[in-house]
Amino acid sequence: MINPTVQVRKIESYDLPALEEAVASYFASVKGFKISRCKRVFIKPNALGAYPPERAVTTHPIVLEAIIRYFVDRKKEVWMGDSPGGAVNVAKVWDTCGFSELAERYPIKVINLSTEGFRELNYRGTSVKISEVLWKCGVVINVAKYKTHSLTAFTGALKNLYGLIPGMVKTDYHRQYPDTIAFANLLLALFALTRNRITYNFIDGIVGMDGAGPSAGTPRNFGLFLGSNSIAALDYIAAKMLGFKMDDVPYLRAALHLEGILPSRIKVPTSFQHYRIPHADIRVVKLRKETLKYVPSVARHVFKRVFDFYPIVSNRCKQCGICVKSCPVQAISWAEGDIPFVHKELCIKCMCCHEMCPHKAIDIHKSFIARLVM
Ligand code: SF4
Ligand code: SF4
Repeated sequence: MINPTVQVRKIESYDLPALEEAVASYFASVKGFKISRCKRVFIKPNALGAYPPERAVTTHPIVLEAIIRYFVDRKKEVWMGDSPGGAVNVAKVWDTCGFSELAERYPIKVINLSTEGFRELNYRGTSVKISEVLWKCGVVINVAKYKTHSLTAFTGALKNLYGLIPGMVKTDYHRQYPDTIAFANLLLALFALTRNRITYNFIDGIVGMDGAGPSAGTPRNFGLFLGSNSIAALDYIAAKMLGFKMDDVPYLRAALHLEGILPSRIKVPTSFQHYRIPHADIRVVKLRKETLKYVPSVARHVFKRVFDFYPIVSNRCKQCGICVKSCPVQAISWAEGDIPFVHKELCIKCMCCHEMCPHKAIDIHKSFIARLVM
């Protein structure tokens, strides 16, 4: 894919006719986008957890509805699903995100990717378990949410593929690949192993999230709906619009390289070539772990002690226990009747607890130096 195209439109609210028109026009712009021989379509939204659409954590159901209608109108069998993070109740996720309601109105099947089997594939020494559903559907539509991310700085189309990994395997991978660079390499392996199965990608940025994403940030009306058949090109353009530079997002450069794409060759509508989302707050996620990279190795030990951050449970905690079950290294203890406690010395700073807490009750404690740069 040498000269990929990224489609971008300003859509200020979740307006179904406007989204239907955009979906049909984006698909029509892809050379060779043929679905006539395909029987079954799989739609992969972001369903991180049981968050209502207005929290802007998950893909909005009206965006999904526009895509569902496109395929149902063409008499396709539609499956839609994800493997929500941590130890959440999947039925509650479908209800809260608005997916159950879609399944009542349209002839679609909502599936938990954790229960459909998986195959384990290897990319350059990294093996990844990927849901079998990817090989059961002829067309796969990846529908991400436009957000900042505490571990990878930005989350768009490529990071959304992480939901193709079954349930608790994801948690275990956070333990195996704890730091940003190791986790980015895992994402790249997943991307390399799945990209030929993904037909098209959308990013729902009509209301996105900045600040401390992917779940505790601030919903922001970006008014943007993006699409491309290139995951790497789409993420590059979306991250740039949010104010990130190439190397702020740890997998972006390698993902573009893997698809043989030069950023200058990506086609975007003229009016969006230099577009920046006004006043997007990306400061909090930008330098979190990369800061260490710029410190000479002899000084790292000392620097690590002064540049420190870790999650703490605030008194907003509702004692649901989700963070305790989501921690891949059991660094959170929980005594009955009390709020959970993070054992700093065990924590690998994967931020799964921060990501999974449904009540924004986990704060990030930062040392004085960390506060200066983050
Ligand atoms: S911190 Fe959040 S996830 Fe953990 S128990 Fe409290 S409310 Fe639940
Ligand atoms: S306490 Fe939170 S950030 Fe630390 S390892 Fe556990 S889930 Fe990850």
